[in-house]
Amino acid sequence: MVELHDKEFAKTDCLKCANCCKTTAPWLTDHDVARIAKHLKLKEQKFIEEYLEVGEDNEFSFKLVPCVFLMPDNECGIYNVRPKACREYPHTNRRKFQQIETITIENTAICPATYNIMEALKANLPIQYSEKGGKPREKFRRGGG
Ligand code: SF4
Ligand code: SF4
Repeated sequence: MVELHDKEFAKTDCLKCANCCKTTAPWLTDHDVARIAKHLKLKEQKFIEEYLEVGEDNEFSFKLVPCVFLMPDNECGIYNVRPKACREYPHTNRRKFQQIETITIENTAICPATYNIMEALKANLPIQYSEKGGKPREKFRRGGG
């Protein structure tokens, strides 16, 4: 999965897309809040009131979508201090990728790179289905026998 991620992002120009920043609001950790507030020279409480909303589980996310820090050229206005969730999106290089399968499938509707990675993953699956709808057949033998 990490190889598929690296291969896809080697040819993906996120500055021509920014769909994640335009359509979704990242969660912010307490560290994110402290770091970004400091960068903006705001008291944390002021930053929270101006920019964030608090979810049911007391989690922070940006109030507005598209993100207020997204610049007209698709650069991130707070790139060096951006939230961890932004740095890690779309999470397709996670070691324990199977823990976030559902969110990754949802992300295929937002992120073209995630869509391509999932298509490449499907193409690499060991089981292929016959075009005529017959029984699945094994493309590769499993095990060492
Ligand atoms: S903080 Fe930056 S990377 Fe994160 S959503 Fe906003 S513009 Fe995008
Ligand atoms: S949606 Fe995916 S491809 Fe587009 S900018 Fe975000 S991470 Fe990059």
